[in-house]
Amino acid sequence: MSLDTPVEFLKSIGPERAKLIRNVLDIVTVEDFLNFYPIRYLDKSQVYDIKNLSDTLPEVQLKGRIIDLKELGEGRSKRLAAKFQDETGIIDLVWFKYSKWLKEQLPVNKTVYIFGKVTLFNSQFSMAHPEIEVEELKEKPTGLLPIYPGSEKLSKRGLNHKFFQNVLRSICTQIPALLTENIPDAVRQKLKLMPRGEAYLNIHFPGDLRKYEQANRRIKFEEAFFFQLSYALKKQHHQANAIGNPFTLVGDYFTTFYRDHLPFPLTNAQKRVIREIRTDMRRPVQMNRLLQGDVGSGKTIVALLAMLIAMDNGFQSVMMAPTEILAQQHYNSLKELTEIAGIQIRLLTGSTKKSERKSIHDSLLSGDLSILVGTHAVLEDIVQFKNLGLAIIDEQHRFGVAQRARLWAKNRIPPHILVMTATPIPRTLAMSFYSDLDVSVIDEMPLGRKPIITAHRREKDRLSVFRFAQEEIEKGRQVYFVYPLIEESETLDYKNLMENFDHIVQFFEGCNVTMLHGRMKPNEKEDAMQYFASGKAQIMVATTVIEVGVNVPNASVMIIESAERFGLSQLHQLRGRVGRGAEQSYCILMTSDKLTKESRIRIKTMTETNDGFKISEVDMQLRGPGDLLGTQQSGILDFKKLDLTTDAKIIEASKDTVATILQKDPFLALPDHQNLKNHYLTHYRGKTSWGKIS
Ligand code: ADP
Ligand code: MG
Repeated sequence: MSLDTPVEFLKSIGPERAKLIRNVLDIVTVEDFLNFYPIRYLDKSQVYDIKNLSDTLPEVQLKGRIIDLKELGEGRSKRLAAKFQDETGIIDLVWFKYSKWLKEQLPVNKTVYIFGKVTLFNSQFSMAHPEIEVEELKEKPTGLLPIYPGSEKLSKRGLNHKFFQNVLRSICTQIPALLTENIPDAVRQKLKLMPRGEAYLNIHFPGDLRKYEQANRRIKFEEAFFFQLSYALKKQHHQANAIGNPFTLVGDYFTTFYRDHLPFPLTNAQKRVIREIRTDMRRPVQMNRLLQGDVGSGKTIVALLAMLIAMDNGFQSVMMAPTEILAQQHYNSLKELTEIAGIQIRLLTGSTKKSERKSIHDSLLSGDLSILVGTHAVLEDIVQFKNLGLAIIDEQHRFGVAQRARLWAKNRIPPHILVMTATPIPRTLAMSFYSDLDVSVIDEMPLGRKPIITAHRREKDRLSVFRFAQEEIEKGRQVYFVYPLIEESETLDYKNLMENFDHIVQFFEGCNVTMLHGRMKPNEKEDAMQYFASGKAQIMVATTVIEVGVNVPNASVMIIESAERFGLSQLHQLRGRVGRGAEQSYCILMTSDKLTKESRIRIKTMTETNDGFKISEVDMQLRGPGDLLGTQQSGILDFKKLDLTTDAKIIEASKDTVATILQKDPFLALPDHQNLKNHYLTHYRGKTSWGKIS
């Protein structure tokens, strides 16, 4: 038997069952079986006394006698009931589904072991559908027994728990010949990791709970370790091979702007991040950097300064946003920032007029235009640069791999890449999913910001909420009302939006109310935005199209309707539309009275913190890491054991270990590293999806 042996050659399997197993469980080889982990274990090593039972226990084993067997109830509530007695007490047994055969076969009044989960009902314990073994026939207890994730389909064909237990047991006897250690001994000892073979044995047949935990930890570490190793090797390779344009000069554009035109003093975090970017771009290696900063932390100015460095070195820059509105916003803020410095910036989106488009194309090709802002439109083949040196991508979640690849192709030597995201990423995710990127974090808000006050209100409070908004408007502030617009019921939501718009217009008599939603044409959207941004309208009624990027510092109240229908990161993004000026800002989350447990947690989190990182942690706990990243990218994090929500320590340790190893031995040439290198080459190389940024 070897790891590659197809399972059909195993005793007790054969071609037909092998096919079934392959189709249902995707298991083809012995190795697949070793990596087919139990979902839970039955503890038959212990016999409990009834007097010590508790309903928080997992399945328990009891030893005693079944007595008082009888049928109860009529029709649908018909059931078979009995008592079970040991020397310390009595519990109820119940079968909701049973056959005449079962009833006759039950070993009443004999000493038996029963096995199952007890529940407490009317201060009496009961067990439904217990597993029963007669004492004389009982197999010797053998620690924890694995239960594998099977399916109806399999157990109908005789592939039940017992079957899997037998197959795995026979494979496990071969473990010493099958598995070699793949983590260096020194690391194993330092981190107190169980040897590999022992871990695989104990993950399938744990001697006891402690052994199981050690095995589990070791296998998680292994997963994390090789994942980190893949990324670290990739990064190392990139640094050695991805030539980039060295921006060695810090010249007039940057210096003059920095000295004379900064509209505000930069925060320390902004300064640090700019330094990190500068250091990166100075080297003849392509930059691949992620810039994380909460909404309102001031990423735009950082992006601009990076583009000025590109200009100083004779290179062009492009800044790409996922939506028309966002691109427009970036364009407006960049134009405002650079106007006095006399730097030309242009905007290219799907709705740019033909003549303007042509002129942009020409000036990019001739090199007259140094900074372009746009949407996906900048990716089109017809958009050619004279010398593209820096590409800034805002809100990377919405751009796919292929699109980024197109950016690269726009210059012979690929441009430096700066990805900006306002969606803070939990630490474990940043450590894994983004571990081939360098990460810069703006973790400090501009001075003088007052934290936004967030409150939860219900329909009965509507009048006071409206009055509050009215008062703020009277003070000269502006207000957003945001409504959910979710695809499945779009028409209904849309109708709702229109009705609410009418209500608001009626209530806020004398105010100008403007509206923004996804069905409007780009120029209509832009007009509506302008109307609000200029202060002509006091109220903006919108859908989530304003979620990212919209910047109106005078707006101080954000009212989110049906807030329970929004996800956490969306709520956080929406809230980030206020609190952008010096005034105290408010976010009011309106919900219905009935909330699910999850939406209660979301609302509570929002009212308790403004910290995007904390919010992202909660979000990951609620939704899981895959959902957080979006389906497009979650496959990369397809871990079997490792859990990004709970295994931060293991991930961190694996990352540190990889760093230490590669620092000492970048090509894994040392004798101590041969086993891990071989394992990496056979199991991981080429299997990780690299194509995220590069
Ligand atoms: P985001 O990181 O969300 O893109 P922006 O770059 O849009 O944030 O900045 C948010 C607001 O804060 C803008 O109005 C910007 O002019 C302002 N701002 C940015 N940096 C500072 C700073 N250091 N001091 C004061 N205001 C700042
Ligand atoms: Mg922004």
